[in-house]
Amino acid sequence: MSKPHILVIPYPAQGHVIPLMELSNELVKHGIKVTFVNTDFTHKRIMKALQEKCVVGNEIQLVSIPDGLQDGDDRNDLGKLTEALFEVMPKKLEMLIEEINKSLSNKITCIVADGNLGWALEVSKKMGIRTVAFWPASASLLILFFSLQKLIDDGTIDSDGTPAKDTTIQLSPMMPAMRTTEFTWACIGDMKTTKIMIEAVKKNNEALKVAEWVICNSTYNHEAAAFTFAPEILPIGPLQASNHIEYLAGNFWSEDSTCLNWLDQQPPHSVIYVAFGSFTIFDHKQLQELAHGLEHSNKPFLWVVRSDINNGKNEIFLKEFEERVSPNGKVVQWAPQKKVLGHPSIACFLSHCGWNSTMEGTTNGVPFLCWPYFADQFINETYICDIWKVGLRLDRNSGIITREDITYKIKQLLHDEEFQIRALKLKESAINSVKEGGSSNKNFKNFIDWIKACV
Ligand code: UDP
Repeated sequence: MSKPHILVIPYPAQGHVIPLMELSNELVKHGIKVTFVNTDFTHKRIMKALQEKCVVGNEIQLVSIPDGLQDGDDRNDLGKLTEALFEVMPKKLEMLIEEINKSLSNKITCIVADGNLGWALEVSKKMGIRTVAFWPASASLLILFFSLQKLIDDGTIDSDGTPAKDTTIQLSPMMPAMRTTEFTWACIGDMKTTKIMIEAVKKNNEALKVAEWVICNSTYNHEAAAFTFAPEILPIGPLQASNHIEYLAGNFWSEDSTCLNWLDQQPPHSVIYVAFGSFTIFDHKQLQELAHGLEHSNKPFLWVVRSDINNGKNEIFLKEFEERVSPNGKVVQWAPQKKVLGHPSIACFLSHCGWNSTMEGTTNGVPFLCWPYFADQFINETYICDIWKVGLRLDRNSGIITREDITYKIKQLLHDEEFQIRALKLKESAINSVKEGGSSNKNFKNFIDWIKACV
C-alpha cells in the first residue's frame, strides 16, 4: 500500500503555523508524508529564524506560494491579508497540487487546511481530494463563528458585526460568557477589518461543511460544554509532538535558548514567565508600566520582548532596564516557550491568552495572569479565570494596567495555592487525554486510521 500524502496549509500567522506544524510532526511520526504549504513570506521568515539549525531528514516537505501582497505591505493588517489571500492563493494552491500530483506515486491523498481558510477546503473539494479542517483556536470560538447568522437574526449584532448593546451572552449553559463588544470580529482591527472578517467567517462556515473531519487542539475536559454543543468538532489536543522528537517548530523568530540555562539557576516555582505571543504590541507608557511592575514584584522573571513589540521605541529604556534587573530578570526576543513552561522554576505565566499559550500553560500546570489584547483572547481569559479558575485578570478599567496592579496580582496568585492545585488538576486531565485510551488519543487514532484508509 502506498504512503498517505497530506497537504497541510495554515493561515499565515505564527499562532496558526505552530499548531499545524505540531500536527504535521504528529502525522509523520505515524508514517505519513506531509507537504506543508506556507506563503512565500512566511517560508522565508521560518528559514531565516532556523539559521543553521535546519532539521535535516525530516519527513515534512516545506513549500510555499505567494500571498498576494507586495514585499513592503503590512501583513499584520488582518483584513488586507485575508482579502489578498482569497484573491491569489486558491489558484496557486490548485496549481501546486496539480504539479505534485503529476508524480503518480506521490499524489496528495488528503488536505488538512486551517479552518480559517475556507477557500482551501473548497479547492480540495473541487479537486476531489479528501478534506479535513484543523481549528487552531478554542472550540468555543468556532461555535461563536458558527452562530454568526443566528446572532444577526436575533438582533444581538448588526449584519456588519456591531453589537446592539454592550452585554454578555452565553451560546449554551456552561459555555464561557462572552461580552458582545468583545466578540472576536469586533476587536480585531478597524471597522473595515471587522467587515472583512464577518464575510470571511460566513464563507468559512459554508466551506467547513465539506470537511470530513473538524479537529482542534483542545480537550473534552477543557471545553466540555462546547463539545456537547457541537459534537462534530473533535479535540485531539494537547498537541505534543515537540516533547518527543527533534521537530520543526515553524518559529518566525529565532529561539533564544540561553533562557533555559538561566531558568536552571532559579529556585523551583519562583519565576514569572511573561510573553504575549506574536501579535501584541504595546504603547510606550504601557510597556514601561509593565517593566516597573515586574521589577517591583521582587520575583525572578523571564520576559519575551519581541523586536516589534513597541516598534523599537523603547530601546534605550529597555537596555537600561535589562542592565538594572539582571540577573534577577531576563529579557529575550523569542523563547522556546513550551520548554520554558515545562521548566520546574516557572511559578506563573503572565500571558495575552492566545489559544496556543493557553493550551501550553494549562498542559504544564502553570497558573495565569491574564492580559488579553485582541481577537479570541477575551474568551480564553474567561476560561482561565471563571471556568477553570487557574488564573487572575489584570485590571484594565483605567485604560492602562498599572504597576501596582501587576505586583498585587502576582502576589495574590502566588500566595493562594488553590490556583496551583486547580492548574495541576487541569494538567493531569490534559496529559491523560493524550495517553493511550484517553479521549484525544482515541480521536487522533481514529483520524490516523481514516487517513491511512484514504490512499
Ligand atoms: N511562542 C514561542 N516563543 C515566544 C512566544 C511565543 O515559541 O517567545 C509561541 C507559543 O509557544 C505559541 C505561539 O508562539 O505556540 C503563540 O501562539 P498564541 O496562540 O499563544 O498567540 P498568538 O501569537 O497567535 O497571538
